[in-house]
Formats: sequence, C-alpha cells, structure tokens
Amino acid sequence: MVLATGVRPNVELAAALGARLGATGAVAVNEYMETSAPGVYAAGDVAEAVSAVTGRPAWLPLAPYANKMGYVAGANAGAGGFSSSRPWWAPPSPSSSICT
Ligand SMILES: Cc1cc2nc3c(=O)[nH]c(=O)nc-3n(C[C@H](O)[C@H](O)[C@H](O)COP(=O)(O)OP(=O)(O)OC[C@H]3O[C@@H](n4cnc5c(N)ncnc54)[C@H](O)[C@@H]3O)c2cc1C
Repeated sequence: MVLATGVRPNVELAAALGARLGATGAVAVNEYMETSAPGVYAAGDVAEAVSAVTGRPAWLPLAPYANKMGYVAGANAGAGGFSSSRPWWAPPSPSSSICT
C-alpha cells in the first residue's frame, strides 16, 4: 500500500520572479490575484486565498478554488495592468482597448 498525504505549493517560479510568499507558504496575492511582483498574477494551488470564514489568508488547494482564482487572475491580467485600481468585474475605461 502507498499512502500519500500532504501537499505543498510549488512556489519556486513565483519566488524567482520576486513574488512574496504568505504565512501559509503559498504566494501572497491581493484581491485581484496579483502578487507583490507587479504584473505577475498567481492562481490555483500556488496561491493563497482569503477565507470567507476568517477573512484571513488561507491555503485551500482544491479544484473549485483554483478554477475561480483562474477567472479572477485571467480577467485582471487581461485588463492590461489596471488591476490595482480597478476590480476585475468593473467595465474597462473608455480609453481601454479591451473589449468585454
Ligand atoms: C491525487 C489528488 C486528488 C485530488 N482530488 C481532488 C478532488 O477530489 N477535489 C478537488 O477539488 N481537488 C482535488 N485535488 C486538488 C486539485 O487537483 C488541485 O487543487 C487543482 O488541480 C489545482 O489546479 P492548479 O491549476 O492550481 O494546479 P495543477 O492542476 O497542478 O496545474 C499546474 C500545471 O502547471 C504545470 N507547471 C508546473 N510548473 C511549471 C513550469 N515551471 N512551467 C510550465 N508549467 C508548469 C504543471 O505541469 C501542471 O500542469 C486533488 C489533487 C490530487 C493530487
């Protein structure tokens, strides 16, 4: 019998890019899934999430979280660097070339 327990985020690439790691050991991100390295987004098992229960960063390495985090990161990364000032769900500014 092989019993495999325990997982940990593979943060080598993100760390090499200068992204800060959180207390959980996963990559720390803001609400736009942007890391501390400008223009670098992280989503899925590699990234922290915010617990809806505690409101604090948590590491939740499960597929549904990874899926939704991917939407958020992709939408903001595709918004052309407006992520820090504009939520992913907000429409682009009139001068933006992004179509939604
Ligand atoms: C055995 C097992 C069972 C699981 N069962 C469940 C379950 O029942 N329900 C559930 O919700 N979750 C489950 N999970 C967790 C779920 O699989 C993960 O949460 C989810 O796959 C995370 O998605 P992700 O895109 O972040 O990472 P991944 O799906 O791991 O994708 C990351 C991808 O990046 C690639 N990659 C890594 N480094 C590099 C690099 N340097 N350059 C290019 N590509 C790179 C990898 O090859 C991989 O394809 C399970 C996990 C395991 C291991």
